[in-house]
Amino acid sequence: MEDSPRIQKAVEIAKKAHEGQLRKNGEPYIVHPLAVKKILEEWGMDEDTIIAGILHDTVEDTDLTLEDIKKEFGESVAFLVDGVTKLSTARNGMRDLDTYLPATKDNFLRLMIALGDDIRVLIIKLADRLHNLRTLNALPPDKQKKIAKETLEVFAPLADRLNMGLLRVELADLAFKYVDPRRFEELSNLIKKYNKSAEKSLKNIEDEIGQALKKEGIKYEISGRVKSVYSLHKKLAKHNQNMGEIYDLVALRIIVDDVTDCYLVLGLIHSLYTPMNGRIKDYIAMPKQNGYQSLHTTAITKDKRIVEFQIRTKEMHEYAERGLAASFYYNEQKLTENYKKGKIEHLPTNLLWITELQMTAARLREGKKVDLKKLKINLFADKIFVYTPKGDIIDLPKGALPLDFAYKLHSEIGDHVVGVKVNGKMSNLNKRLEQGDVVEILTSKNQTPKSSWLDKIFTPHARSKLLRALRLSNSPDPAAPKKKRKPRK
Ligand code: MN
Repeated sequence: MEDSPRIQKAVEIAKKAHEGQLRKNGEPYIVHPLAVKKILEEWGMDEDTIIAGILHDTVEDTDLTLEDIKKEFGESVAFLVDGVTKLSTARNGMRDLDTYLPATKDNFLRLMIALGDDIRVLIIKLADRLHNLRTLNALPPDKQKKIAKETLEVFAPLADRLNMGLLRVELADLAFKYVDPRRFEELSNLIKKYNKSAEKSLKNIEDEIGQALKKEGIKYEISGRVKSVYSLHKKLAKHNQNMGEIYDLVALRIIVDDVTDCYLVLGLIHSLYTPMNGRIKDYIAMPKQNGYQSLHTTAITKDKRIVEFQIRTKEMHEYAERGLAASFYYNEQKLTENYKKGKIEHLPTNLLWITELQMTAARLREGKKVDLKKLKINLFADKIFVYTPKGDIIDLPKGALPLDFAYKLHSEIGDHVVGVKVNGKMSNLNKRLEQGDVVEILTSKNQTPKSSWLDKIFTPHARSKLLRALRLSNSPDPAAPKKKRKPRK
């Protein structure tokens, strides 16, 4: 496809501006902005974002000014270029923010303020970072390590928060190679070996499932999914390096037309193979915080192999791989218009954390104090850590309520809750728990589980325990609807 006249113009201007400049590896500098352009095109970004990507280093490194860009390409492009520039350099306006914010958090702070203006700035920055990582070998080792570490700590998690799965995997694996080359080598060999040994067996499963799906008349695509080296590294660290506890090393992905088919395929897999207890995850009914949707199940195949299956629709797959960028592709006009007006309500609901970020940026610009530590937790973890009165740490997803905590401790505790104390004070069952809370559950032997508690529960785990308790409960629940109860004989 040929570039639009505006994009051609931007390339021309960038070429002229960067003329004579070289990258660290000796290439002409323009190679870099053109690579960023290509990445943004692959992500399906809008024209303004692509133009800003082409020009992203001009204001900082060449004679071109923001005024020039504004005149040639309009306000929106100038706005984006300015955001990216601010993201990589400390400007005067930001320096005084550092006086009351820790200087070490600089990168994060800059990120935030730029984000406050337009999330597309971050997408350009991610494309910029991706190309820099792809060409990182030209830099001296100490710089390589620094950039790679920052990528693992900031940019890969951000890609994850935007549900840009392909980007997250590429960023993390590229960076991890520089941070710990030996471990990277070791684990990528391990993954290769596993996949090789599973090859034949996976082929059989594919055929088996394929036949069954054809019989049902379900249209599908099936493919193997290779686990990223860095995510294996992280998972092994969580499970004391025990490979026996990694169940998703080998995974098959099945993509179908609609949600009904997803559940049909799940049932079909469970009829062919033995599902593993507690490994069925319904991220369709309950999407992850970043909007990820899919059904996951782990099954033991006929040749005793443990395989994870991921089942989703085409749209869900597209969103899992490209995330926010995919939303831009579909809602381009709407989003662009709303950004201009300063509105953000058309962001996917699961990306509402961005709204929070934008509000924080606004508070900062007004000179108000912000608890950065809290924000970092909100941004980088789906989880909160709360404490029992004895000091045991319980991890819960963000948004969890006291009953989730109680059922996580034990179903005996959950079933008999009469109240909750948070940080020593009486609280109520509707109040969301926060990072660092000390939670004390008050119980009574006479208490029975109530169906009204279903509204006071956030985690699937607690929900299933409560539902089970309700089914088993002999004593009639006063909160349950009375009409349908059959008279006793
Ligand atoms: Mn750059």
